[in-house]
Amino acid sequence: MRCSQAFLPVLKESPTDAQIVSHKLMLRAGLVRQTAAGIYAWLPIGLKVLRKIEQIVREEQNRAGAIELLMPTLQSADLWRQSGRYDAYGPEMLRIRDRHEREMLYGPTNEEMITALFRDEANSYRDLPRTLYHIQWKFRDEVRPRFGVMRGREFLMKDAYSFDLDEAGARQSYYTQLLAYLRTFQRLGIRAVPMKAASGPIGGDLSHEFIVLAPTGESEVFYDAEYEAVDWGRGDLQHGDAAGLQSMFDQISRTYAATDETHDEARWADVPATRQRTGRGIEVGHIFYFGTKYSAAMNFRVPGPDGQMITPHMGSYGVGVSRLVGAIIEASHDDAGIVWPDSVAPWAVGLVTMRGDDTASAAAADDLYAKLTAAGVETLYDDRDGRGGAKLASMDLIGLPQQLIIGPRGLAQGVVELKDRRTGEKQELSIESALARLT
Ligand code: ATP
Ligand code: MG
Ligand code: MG
Ligand code: MG
Repeated sequence: MRCSQAFLPVLKESPTDAQIVSHKLMLRAGLVRQTAAGIYAWLPIGLKVLRKIEQIVREEQNRAGAIELLMPTLQSADLWRQSGRYDAYGPEMLRIRDRHEREMLYGPTNEEMITALFRDEANSYRDLPRTLYHIQWKFRDEVRPRFGVMRGREFLMKDAYSFDLDEAGARQSYYTQLLAYLRTFQRLGIRAVPMKAASGPIGGDLSHEFIVLAPTGESEVFYDAEYEAVDWGRGDLQHGDAAGLQSMFDQISRTYAATDETHDEARWADVPATRQRTGRGIEVGHIFYFGTKYSAAMNFRVPGPDGQMITPHMGSYGVGVSRLVGAIIEASHDDAGIVWPDSVAPWAVGLVTMRGDDTASAAAADDLYAKLTAAGVETLYDDRDGRGGAKLASMDLIGLPQQLIIGPRGLAQGVVELKDRRTGEKQELSIESALARLT
């Protein structure tokens, strides 16, 4: 993308209406603009990052055997009356009436809709187990939308739902999603600790929140430093390996991690003092086993092998895709701006001419841009006139992993500069070796 032809609004001043660093940086670097309280337009850079996160989430869901579909944002109130949640949900639900006075709502979550959909198509025990998911916008009329996309009213969520014939099967589905989450967050370049969460009326030990550690997080967290040593992606594990998944789960259960909601002073006291870590964190995912809560309420039963009717056991698994954009920035930035992990960077390389009006620099940069693009390296090329210093500051703000800097003086000696955004390390290289490095 050439900056001269792009839509990349960057703010020079720090916005005063933003309280936390990720929100400030998302406004300054032009990722989003608020259009109404808690509702955001995604500008090109923000959209690119959002799509990359979404794609990683999708790939790990698919790898875990979950099946993608897409449910609508608008739902009928009648569906929610089947589970009894229409009245229970309260003012967070945005309720809408259509021209025929039918009661509708903008979905805050999809347990009812997926249960009805799957119930109407599943004919026997052979149709289970299945885990279905979608990545769709949700609406929750939060009392206090704040921190930008972190607590929006409209937000993008991946939500998966598992259907199993019994509790043992449901546990396997839960562990499978747990592993998919560990891999997803690892690929996103963040450490998200699975913390035991309150499991509601069903009880048991099967609910975890995934928490990214950041001082601006809304939850207070307590965890064992062992979590810093775990191989989060569990590269050794296969999704179908029941015993392996169980031992992964047991290891997680043994290692203390809790938010203020579930913190247990007695168990905490057993964690050696040198390993006790406390801080704040952001909830980026939440997984839940809830047994037959919705299937029973919504009359979902399938005939088993012996003809006896079985009420499926369900779980649901959410990832805050749009919240993650903010959470990743909270976890990865410096004074100059965002520092994107490679996997979600909007472009891999920022190409800058220090003097856009210098014809030799422009020609060399045009040629590099063409070669990088041809090699499939996503490149943002600041081909505009204007001060090199300001261009570099914008590249730092936007946070692309590599900067390739072309100046008349270096060029005269056949060299360009390659800067690593994270370390700040700069190297002078010949054009050929810079290209070789990046392609
Ligand atoms: P919170 O405690 O932050 O209000 P929640 O527990 O109500 O979140 P869940 O119902 O568990 O949220 O939804 C799954 C995921 O959706 C959350 O883990 C979070 O990442 C994301 N999410 C929830 N509410 C919002 C919101 N208002 N804005 C952005 N993302 C959200
Ligand atoms: Mg909430
Ligand atoms: Mg929560
Ligand atoms: Mg939650």
